[in-house]
Amino acid sequence: MAEGGHYDIVILGGGSGGYACALRAAEFGKRVALIEKDKVGGTCLHRGCIPTKALLHAAEIADSSRESEKFGIRTSFEGIEMPAVLSYQQGVVERLWKGLQGTIAGRKIDTIYGDGKLVSPTAVMVNGATYTGDHVVLATGSVPRSLPGLELDGNRVITSDEALTLDRVPSKAVILGGGVIGVEFASVWRSFGAEVTIVEMAPQLLPLEEEASAKVLQRVFRRRGIGFELSTPFQSVAYTDSGVQVTLGNGKQLDAEILLVAVGRGPVSANLGYEENGVNLTRGYVDVDPLCRTSVPTISAVGDLINTPQLAHVGFGEGILVAERLGGLDVKPIDYDGVPRITYSDPEVASVGITSSQAAARGINVVEVNYPLGGNGRSVILQTQGQAKVIAEAPATPGGQPGRVLGIHLVGSRVGELIAEAQLIYNWDAEPDDVAALIHPHPTQSEIIGEAHLALAGKPLHFHN
Ligand SMILES: Cc1cc2nc3c(=O)[nH]c(=O)nc-3n(C[C@H](O)[C@H](O)[C@H](O)COP(=O)(O)OP(=O)(O)OC[C@H]3O[C@@H](n4cnc5c(N)ncnc54)[C@H](O)[C@@H]3O)c2cc1C
Repeated sequence: MAEGGHYDIVILGGGSGGYACALRAAEFGKRVALIEKDKVGGTCLHRGCIPTKALLHAAEIADSSRESEKFGIRTSFEGIEMPAVLSYQQGVVERLWKGLQGTIAGRKIDTIYGDGKLVSPTAVMVNGATYTGDHVVLATGSVPRSLPGLELDGNRVITSDEALTLDRVPSKAVILGGGVIGVEFASVWRSFGAEVTIVEMAPQLLPLEEEASAKVLQRVFRRRGIGFELSTPFQSVAYTDSGVQVTLGNGKQLDAEILLVAVGRGPVSANLGYEENGVNLTRGYVDVDPLCRTSVPTISAVGDLINTPQLAHVGFGEGILVAERLGGLDVKPIDYDGVPRITYSDPEVASVGITSSQAAARGINVVEVNYPLGGNGRSVILQTQGQAKVIAEAPATPGGQPGRVLGIHLVGSRVGELIAEAQLIYNWDAEPDDVAALIHPHPTQSEIIGEAHLALAGKPLHFHN
């Protein structure tokens, strides 16, 4: 292990943002120190994206085995063995973690394990040793947040950190927060046999997503037996003999074994020497310009620590942007509207670009098409419901072709995999007519993208109003 020293770049935090920056900087021949107090890979690999998606995959298998008779296959569903599910989940994490450590070492990056603190605009102290850099990148990420007065005990009132390692399926769970994390856990636990109710302040689940997508998700969740209380604030929680009793702002009381608090994540920036060394913060988030530069010329910041969408791939993108800027490349700001977003519940919700209400708020005239999955062969084979909604600029002249595609919003099983095409359409400023010219393979779910654009371009194939 290195014992202090000077580097081109010192990175504090080895999660998605920090390690992506390290990997890319090393490609420029930079000497990089990556400081991590726990495990490289951070939240995404150990407490976020990967372990949740492993649980969701196990949940899908549980549903498939329960419903197999629908497809003429006889199986018997005998239950969920949580320790075995967790061992599969951990196996996935361990394998990826090992691979990541190898990649980092292979790029000759020095990983220093310990609790780091910024001690000057060019230095971080870890385990009593000082690591100086021509540049410092802050990437300390985020942790689960709670509400004022709502105490987390890690046992009955828990966050996603504990939910991911729960060695049993709760018989009944209340989930506070209908954002991505809340919706994904509701989906998993329901598939595993729990009774689940989501409590959400906003009038829809996934408040940041297109309203039309949320409506489909809510319809399917209702059918799956997942309850939700919308436009409803949380009031209090009390401990009972068998778990908790949650009181809502509308007066309802819900009994459950567990309350999962999924009301968002806050930045890790307290007591790390940031403000003392001139780094400006707003509500704990590090302030940055569009190129991730902080108020201190020698310091950049990336990932959940800055107030951009809290997604691993946003962290990757920002880490790469900073490394390329420090490597002398001419970098461009990230268009955050153009970053794809996926909620991996059943059904999945995936989107890129803006929603109808954002278009209205920005004063943009649009045309829209909703293509239902019921008209898509592959989706009918999979027995999934959902839709593809595409939003484009309204034609400049009456009867003309629509302009740029501004938003693509998908709901249905497996639609997350389709959002990669949607992101090319959005980010390459395609118009419906451009996409209509592309032949999509049949029978695939990708045809919903082709069909929706054909309809918007005025040449519908299977689409009818
Ligand atoms: C349940 C859940 C599911 C998620 N699912 C998805 C998903 O499907 N897709 C997606 O894109 N995103 C998902 N996310 C979000 C994603 O995990 C985060 O956006 C991403 O991890 C942020 O990366 P980061 O590098 O900014 O921070 P982090 O990953 O939090 O990394 C920060 C690192 O800094 C280290 N650190 C902090 N302080 C110090 C210190 N003082 N000294 C040394 N090291 C320090 C931490 O140990 C940590 O390893 C999910 C998150 C959760 C919680």
